[in-house]
Amino acid sequence: MDDKTLTQLDPVIPCTDCQAGHMHREYVAYYTWLGDELITVPDFPAWVCDICGRCEYDENALARLSLLLSPNAGKTTSTPRKIQSKEKSKSKPQRPIPNE
Ligand SMILES: [Zn+2]
Repeated sequence: MDDKTLTQLDPVIPCTDCQAGHMHREYVAYYTWLGDELITVPDFPAWVCDICGRCEYDENALARLSLLLSPNAGKTTSTPRKIQSKEKSKSKPQRPIPNE
């Protein structure tokens, strides 16, 4: 029952480039530069045309990714504690002092 619903909802949009093909949802490798660092996302949702091969990255996924990569992301999420403790232990090369 659920499978049927999913298949019907599977979206196919006309290609905006060649206007002859249809763009299907696929997972492609996504590369982006964050400062000096190259970020690679191996299974990034995108739309790929079956005629001309035009590839458009999924807008929602892009928005989520930009949130993840944003330096301000930790301030807006509800779980900033985990990230803070991780960074703290990582950026502390010195041994913690047991006494004051
Ligand atoms: Zn096309």
